[in-house]
Order: sequence, then structure tokens, then C-alpha cells
Amino acid sequence: MDGRIEHGFRARFRALALAAGGADPEGWATGTVGEALARVRNEGTAPSRAFADTWIRELHLARGDWSRRGSGSGPTPPWARFDEAHPPRFLCDPSLGGLARWLRAAGYEAFLAPEVPGYRLPEEALRRGLVLLTTEAEVLDRRIVAAGSLVAVWVPSALTVAEQLHMAFLDLGLALREPRCMACGGTLVPTPKEAVRPRIPPRTALWKDEYFVCAGCEGLFWRGTHWERIEATLRRAVAA
Ligand SMILES: [Zn+2]
Repeated sequence: MDGRIEHGFRARFRALALAAGGADPEGWATGTVGEALARVRNEGTAPSRAFADTWIRELHLARGDWSRRGSGSGPTPPWARFDEAHPPRFLCDPSLGGLARWLRAAGYEAFLAPEVPGYRLPEEALRRGLVLLTTEAEVLDRRIVAAGSLVAVWVPSALTVAEQLHMAFLDLGLALREPRCMACGGTLVPTPKEAVRPRIPPRTALWKDEYFVCAGCEGLFWRGTHWERIEATLRRAVAA
């Protein structure tokens, strides 16, 4: 099996145990890893799926324990770091361009930094005040992540984009926001039909009166079947 999946999830299990107030986070992580591996062995489940399912179950339990315990003690877990008024903004590693697009559709700012070498991405995210989304499990061992100054969300590259989005949303306790442009992340500004009429395909103009222009790239949007499909996928991806 891909050792990086186990490594990444072990760090996630340890973080959950800490948040839940467990006495022995390392031992607990080892037990949980063993459980997921048994599922891979006995049921033939794909490792990334078996680990993700186990993590989702444990996350819900840890969140319950954490809220019962009160938020006064221990480090603030990722899901309690952000709220509606202070949403996270993301820096995605180069393999997560697809996830960046879906995060924008979900209403979050998500950036790529192709000019920054991979090993510099954690410092870049910290400098810009962004949450790092990465498929590199080794990032979790970096001092700035372990010390809590940088929030880094690791997702396995073997999962689908919808599954990655689901993990990131659960991890940070996020909800859907007003959609942004999937291409550039710009806000979508309601715009009178007459102002954009020359750009509307004639058949669309017959049945749609509401239009939006991206403040970043000036792309034209309307709630057609494409938009509805995206929203349906997002709702499925963020459902607990
Ligand atoms: Zn745009």
C-alpha cells in the first residue's frame, strides 16, 4: 500500500485524538490506522477510501467530544478556527487545480502558485495568511504545521475531487457560500440583461433574465443547467 496515505491519515488521527482530549494520541492513531488497514485487507476496500471513511467517522466523534469538553483547553482544532465572517482562503498545490476550481464554486478564494517551488509552498501560504491544501503528507511534519502557525489540510491524491472537497469541508467545518467564478475566483456581480445582451447566446436570452459578470475575468454567467449541475455536486460533496 502507498505509505503516504497511511502517513497522512496517521497525522490526521493524532490531531483528532488531541482535539478530543485523548490521553494517548499516538496509541489511538495506531489503533485507528490498524482498523482502516483491516478493512483494506478483509473487505478489499481501496486504502484511500477505507482511511477516509474511518477518518470521517472519527472526526464526528472527536467534534462531539471537543464540544462537550468546552473549547477552553488545548489547541484550537481546524474546524473551530474559521467562521462565516472570517472564511479561510486557500493555497492549493499544483496537483489540486481541480479542487481549487470547486472551492471557488463553493464560494471560497483558492489560489495556485505555479511560480513557487513545491517545498516553499508552506512558507508561501503562511506569508499570505492562506490555508495550505496539499497531497504531500510530509508537509504535516513541517514545524510550522505541527506548531499550529500554518493550517495545512492534507487530502489523498487517490480520492476524487468531490471526496477531497468533502474532506476539506469537514476538516475546517465549512458551509457553502455565494459561488465565485470557477476560473479565477472573482465575485459574480448581478448585471442587467440589457448591459450584456450581445454576449448572451440567443436561445438563453429567451428564457433567462438574471445574469452575473465575474469581477475578475469578466466571464458571463447565468443559472443554467451547467450551473445547476455544479450546485447539485457541491451539495452532495458537503453533506455530512
Ligand atoms: Zn472570473
